[in-house]
Amino acid sequence: AQERYAGLIGQPAQAKCGTTIALHMNAGLIADLPSLESSGAEGVGLFRTELQFLARSNVPRRGELAAIYARVMDAAGDKPVVFRTLDIGSDKVLPYMKREEEPNPALGWRAIRVGLDKPGVMRMQLQALIRAANGRPLTLMFPFIAQFDEFRAARQHVLDEIEREGKLGHDLPENIRIGAMLETPSLAFAPRQFFEMADFISIGGNDLKQFFFAADRENERVRRRYDTLNVSYLSFIEQIVRRCAETDTPVSFCGEDAGRPIEAMCFAAMGLRTLSMRPASIGPVKHLLRRVNLDDVRAVIDRSRGSGVQSVRGDVMEWLRTMGD
Ligand code: PEP
Ligand code: MG
Repeated sequence: AQERYAGLIGQPAQAKCGTTIALHMNAGLIADLPSLESSGAEGVGLFRTELQFLARSNVPRRGELAAIYARVMDAAGDKPVVFRTLDIGSDKVLPYMKREEEPNPALGWRAIRVGLDKPGVMRMQLQALIRAANGRPLTLMFPFIAQFDEFRAARQHVLDEIEREGKLGHDLPENIRIGAMLETPSLAFAPRQFFEMADFISIGGNDLKQFFFAADRENERVRRRYDTLNVSYLSFIEQIVRRCAETDTPVSFCGEDAGRPIEAMCFAAMGLRTLSMRPASIGPVKHLLRRVNLDDVRAVIDRSRGSGVQSVRGDVMEWLRTMGD
């Protein structure tokens, strides 16, 4: 199936209306990086940093992490890499971390909540990232930000570490971009100042969808009830895009849904211009985007949601069929 899309590798994901969507890839290992070339991704839109912490019996050392991050940046060359700071708790549990049993781990002490309450590991990771960049640009984002203050505090940790690393005589990143993952509905309603402070927003659709519908992403029974193309969810995505546009804050989508061609096409019609997905999805998503006019997709979605349906999927699929797919 991959050969089918091989001819598209050097081609942009340009829709018939002329709009181009930037397609990035998700990664989590050095071994994923060769896919940048083979998939034609424009960069790594999400580098999950949990694996280096999970596959071992104790906390990795700063030097080890810095070496790994530097290799990732080396392998990416001129293509940007967005490093997400440690996102543990909920579905990702560290064997060596003492934690209390929680009745609802997905709603519990996880991700940035751990990072802010016990900042030691996160600060060490930030130091490793700064050293890995070693004068190159650095882009990082924080997971699971639910309110402005969490982002402000997390960002302050970065500024503090930059200052500290500078005093220690390390080369500082040429520039640094600090973003927030939007994974809880609350953040979409944060004050305007949050959107101004964030260098970019990345929608973590896996978590966002589970909280939007109150449906556990790990529980097949409830997860399947709620379609990504549900009119409420699409309208919410559209609203996030609009809020980001008000402050010129770049926004992308990096959940698994970005790698599903029909979902990706509908997100693009809702205004998203950057999507990050597993490398194998880039070909299929690009193939579909290049065949459609996003204004037409938008018109189909608008007509569909005006008709009172629960999900626009049926109408979108029907329209695609009339296009001869
Ligand atoms: C997400 O929630 O969509 C996301 C990209 O993060 P993760 O799947 O690692 O929670
Ligand atoms: Mg998430």
